[in-house]
Amino acid sequence: MLPAAASTALHRAGHAVTVLERAGELRETGAGIGIMPNGVLALDALGLGGPVRERAAPFAEGGIRDRHGRALLATDRSALRDLVGAPVTVLTRPWLHRLLAAALPAGTVVTGRAVTALREGPTGVEIDGHRTDVAVVADGAGSRLRAALFPAHPGLRRSGESAARSVATGVPADLPLAPGELLDHRTGDRFGCMPMSDGGVYWYATWRDTAPDDPPARHRWLRERRADWHPCAAALIDATAPEAVHVVQTAQLARPLPALAVGRVALLGDAAHAMTPDLGQGACQAFEDAVALGAVLTGAGPAEAPAALARYDALRRPPHERAPAAGRAGEPRAGPPRTGGPDPGRGAPARPGGAVHEGAGRAAGLHAAAGPHPSRSKATFPQRDRVKVALLQRRGGWGQRSPMPT
Ligand SMILES: Cc1cc2nc3c(=O)[nH]c(=O)nc-3n(C[C@H](O)[C@H](O)[C@H](O)COP(=O)(O)OP(=O)(O)OC[C@H]3O[C@@H](n4cnc5c(N)ncnc54)[C@H](O)[C@@H]3O)c2cc1C
Repeated sequence: MLPAAASTALHRAGHAVTVLERAGELRETGAGIGIMPNGVLALDALGLGGPVRERAAPFAEGGIRDRHGRALLATDRSALRDLVGAPVTVLTRPWLHRLLAAALPAGTVVTGRAVTALREGPTGVEIDGHRTDVAVVADGAGSRLRAALFPAHPGLRRSGESAARSVATGVPADLPLAPGELLDHRTGDRFGCMPMSDGGVYWYATWRDTAPDDPPARHRWLRERRADWHPCAAALIDATAPEAVHVVQTAQLARPLPALAVGRVALLGDAAHAMTPDLGQGACQAFEDAVALGAVLTGAGPAEAPAALARYDALRRPPHERAPAAGRAGEPRAGPPRTGGPDPGRGAPARPGGAVHEGAGRAAGLHAAAGPHPSRSKATFPQRDRVKVALLQRRGGWGQRSPMPT
């Protein structure tokens, strides 16, 4: 889904882009997704914000509640919208996916094409024999290519939680909802629900215990665990078929990557900064990545690409992660691209096994994913220069939370 946003940004910046997708078709799960105001602003910058704004969530209150629905922290979404200039929207994933895909010129996406190896050098990137100026790695949280680029990085760390998500349809209009998130202090279980503009209700549930694997049994288990909660939890689970519930074990990067760009290769989305879903920011951050990528590559020709991606890294990585201490042994640090002279502050790009480091500025380039396991990446390839697009990021403040009177 998200490489489509990056592709749109790069097309708008005047570049030729190809998306390589491992799956036989572009698809998304049937569940919903919350796009926070910063994500909507990023979609605005991609020219896609209008239809998303039209689907803004028809509810004004949110926040955190106890399991009975009593407010613990309330969020005034109208105030948030006025403050930031964009609403919270709740969409079905397939709808958002179609919106993003429709923005791409025909032929941009090549499906059934799993990337297995990437080799970066001073003048280009070679991906399974295909040569390009820039590669954008966006193969998701379990990114194999990230591991090849940063072999000393520990990768994902499980949160210990599982999450189920779905959209309940045909919900009675008079069903009392408790929008926002219900929290059970006894177990740490959570249940969130957000009505959507089309009458459906997006809901999710989290837990730490072991749930049954069988979908109908898990459905009953989820419902029974919430039997003494606000009635909307059981009602929304009842209104959803067990097969329509998507379950994942949630995870995040064990620690931030030392760089979001290495020479001519940039990372985007969950491959770059996998985070737990309770933040509601994974896709929103990827949209911001896409806008930033389009902005830095606007006006950049092939020779300027490494410098442009270094600016992308600087834009998208918080300052404290760019401090020297953030670099770990064996992990390349962010810094100027490798096209110039030696750069002792940068560390070195990685080779399979993580043991071999090259001097910066050498022509040999970066070898990734040549080990026994094929690396996985979805890549976009800007292939020509030109441009004339100014894409600006506007960072919105987060919702103000204030205690709700009891
Ligand atoms: C339960 C849950 C709820 C969430 N809720 C929200 C929310 O409300 N708001 C929000 O902003 N975010 C939310 N997120 C996060 C959001 O879903 C992710 O951040 C987002 O889907 C990541 O997209 P991605 O494109 O980076 O990765 P993915 O969606 O994982 O896509 C990776 C793609 O790469 C392809 N691929 C993999 N390997 C290869 C290869 N070798 N070659 C070619 N292609 C390959 C895959 O087929 C896939 O299409 C939630 C996540 C979860 C789990």
